[in-house]
Amino acid sequence: MKLTTKILIGLGLGALTGLILNIFSSELFAILDRFLFTPLGKIFISLISMLVVPIVLFSIILGTAGLGDPKKLGRIGFKTVSFFLATTAIAISIGLALAYLIKPGLMGQFDTSGAKFDAEEAPPVGETLLNLIPGNPFEALTTGNMLQIIVFAIFIGLALTALGEKTRGILNLVEQGNQVMMYLVGLVMKFAPYGTFGLIATAIGSQGIDAIKAMGVYMIVVVLALVVHALVTYGSAVYFLGKKNPFWFFKQFSPAMGVAFSTSSSNATLPISMETAQKKLRVPESVSSFVQPLGATINMDGTAIMQGVATVFIAQVFGADLTMGELLTVVLTAVLASIGTAGVPGVGLIMLAMVLQSVGLPVEGIGLILGIDRLLDMARTAVNISGDAACAVIVAESEKKHLARTEEKRVNNMADNRSLEYSE
Ligand code: ASP
Repeated sequence: MKLTTKILIGLGLGALTGLILNIFSSELFAILDRFLFTPLGKIFISLISMLVVPIVLFSIILGTAGLGDPKKLGRIGFKTVSFFLATTAIAISIGLALAYLIKPGLMGQFDTSGAKFDAEEAPPVGETLLNLIPGNPFEALTTGNMLQIIVFAIFIGLALTALGEKTRGILNLVEQGNQVMMYLVGLVMKFAPYGTFGLIATAIGSQGIDAIKAMGVYMIVVVLALVVHALVTYGSAVYFLGKKNPFWFFKQFSPAMGVAFSTSSSNATLPISMETAQKKLRVPESVSSFVQPLGATINMDGTAIMQGVATVFIAQVFGADLTMGELLTVVLTAVLASIGTAGVPGVGLIMLAMVLQSVGLPVEGIGLILGIDRLLDMARTAVNISGDAACAVIVAESEKKHLARTEEKRVNNMADNRSLEYSE
């Protein structure tokens, strides 16, 4: 049986088991969760998390060195960041529009008296940008500071290109290190069906059915906006800019989406989403290894959608009207919040506080959606990483000519070196 099928079966069985236990026996759920579901999920998350930092480091060094020329890196970087910003702005607008249309905050009674949420201090975006350059790269590696690791790896890649033959050994070492990591991704993926089963059973089994019922309309609006964004925005971008069939795109990428759905973490899914993009979507390694780690860190369209819907929902519940200017502020802050949101579970909700504060809405409103956010986090994370993969496909298509030329040059160089060896 194919791995994709196995992962999907794991997802389905996990959801079904969680749901049945949730309805019929919370005692049995507690026991099974403690001794089976949670351990399975934890082992899987640790297995993939173990590979994230080395993969980001190695693959970005290789990607930068593979592009060869800082100008090319600049061009790809510009395209990537423009795509990320544009799609995030579209995502949040879809969220806002659907929330205005369906009015989830006016459907049902919401008791705001008990709503409580302690806003954690969200890291200011200016500071994130200022902190891009790691003061200590080893600290960045041990704490898993993705943006800093990316910047450090780009510097190393540029240096290896400039030094050429002199540092050939290090480049080879990184190349082999990367192969080792990719081999391990393949190995770890064999455990994915069991891991996703455990994670989904825990997530669904521990949800209060009453909370889901009360927040049903809100959840439907968020999921609808996610589906519209994935199919329409990514679908048309993949079709028109990436020159690929959108159905093929989603079908090939579905194993990674399944893992994102179960882990609720773009970062943890990164090794798998990169492998899927390279092997199944045929994105060249030099593009994938640059676009996807960056996207997993700064591009969160699914999260932006939730923030758009949540803002309108909270405004409706609290009877506040948002002016056109305030809506624009929401779009802008949500785009910035998406850059600052780390690709780990639940951070989107913390960043929502920043969006609400920007238009003076009560942060306690988050208390209303807190209970069911875990479920929506799964869905939005799957969209978050699909946006990165769509961008990788599009950048690869637009760089086709240049990449072919680089490859040709490399092959010629190799041939030259070989003829040199023979003549010696
Ligand atoms: N869980 C999301 C991710 O990792 C971030 C969030 O929205 O909380 O992509």
